[in-house]
Amino acid sequence: METGFTHAGLMEILQRTFKQLPDYRTGQNTRYAIGDAAAGAFGVFFTQSPSFLSYQRDMQRKNGQNNAQSLFGVEKIPSDNQIRNLLDPIGPEHLYAPFWEIYAQLKARGTLNKQRGHANNWLCAMDGVQYFTSKAIHCENCNETHKDGTVRYYHAAITPVLVAPDSPVVISLEPEFITPQDGSEKQDCEQNAIKRWIERNASHFAPHTVTILADDLHSHQPLCELLLSNHFNFILVCKPDSHKALYEEIALLDKIAGVSQVKVRRWNGRFHEKWLYRYVNQVPLRGGEHALQVNWCELTITHESEGTQIYHNSFVTNHLINDATVKSIVASGRARWKTENECNNVLKNHGYHLAHNFGHGQQHLSSVLVTLNLLAFLCHTVLDLTSFLYQRLRRELGTRQTFFGDIRTLTRYSYFPNWQALLDHMAKGLGIGLSSSP
Ligand SMILES: [Zn+2]
Repeated sequence: METGFTHAGLMEILQRTFKQLPDYRTGQNTRYAIGDAAAGAFGVFFTQSPSFLSYQRDMQRKNGQNNAQSLFGVEKIPSDNQIRNLLDPIGPEHLYAPFWEIYAQLKARGTLNKQRGHANNWLCAMDGVQYFTSKAIHCENCNETHKDGTVRYYHAAITPVLVAPDSPVVISLEPEFITPQDGSEKQDCEQNAIKRWIERNASHFAPHTVTILADDLHSHQPLCELLLSNHFNFILVCKPDSHKALYEEIALLDKIAGVSQVKVRRWNGRFHEKWLYRYVNQVPLRGGEHALQVNWCELTITHESEGTQIYHNSFVTNHLINDATVKSIVASGRARWKTENECNNVLKNHGYHLAHNFGHGQQHLSSVLVTLNLLAFLCHTVLDLTSFLYQRLRRELGTRQTFFGDIRTLTRYSYFPNWQALLDHMAKGLGIGLSSSP
């Protein structure tokens, strides 16, 4: 079942990038390599252990070997303070290459074949996440909001992920940071960040193989036109309050029976649900001249016997909607919620110890650390997708807390010459037979 992605293979991809990070130091003090700082911070995120490096420094002192070196290729472990100083001047874009290399390999190996949505497209969900906020701590790349005479500093990013209906897997792609842009007086925003990401990355995908998913904030004409001109498809949430002209048109069509319907009855294990799909093709996205024509659909789910509404959402898309496609278009549009649940939640709530370990930095540190954390998240996803032993261990240990708790403890007390040795040790302890089939 192993399709060839190993921890060592992933580290090789990452190390190529870490070793090429720019070094802006001018003095003689080059005792620690920049690549070691990046690999060390990556190790903290990958093990989800804030104390990982300090444990490994201890181990090195006492035993002459350590897991930061064996598992992550850190030749000489810098202090947290040195890591902060070494990584702070480096723009996060220097860490983007591994996202695409891993994506390309997953694609080439066929691992992504099951991760598809409507029209056999890959679904790329674009959502913003605010990962830092403070009234006191800030850097030159913080965004600011002013309210009642107080300033609030924050960092946010777009974290695009590939999602698929009925799959818990989310594949992180290169992020885009919402940060004050050179030569612009105005604050940056989510819309501009998505625009930059699309323009920079469209060439990574074959035309019309990717459908972009985003929320209501982004279902406006400039973004839709940008997506179409870059050969992306889209399914975007589209609410009545922000799309008055579109919904007036739908109301008019409804009066002359111009809105199509599909009804489905479903048993959810406890009671019957009524699923009502409504759709119409070729309606104007906005009022005024030169409005883009889009296709619109909505899904309303109600409790059949009680009549209460359980779910409602509506989307605009460039995919043609008919009785046969409306269900898969809506299912694809709904897959976006995984971003919040899987990826951004992990960034915000699980093992995210940035400020605790490394501080905020003066320039790019906070976005560099987020990028390393996204890479760690991606590597775990890839191992889960492609390594049978990793899958077995994760399933056996139940929660992610247990898995990472065990990794944390094992790497503190024992030396492992490589990741495979660590997994084998865990499997042996748990009595998982390595030869058992899935
Ligand atoms: Zn900042």
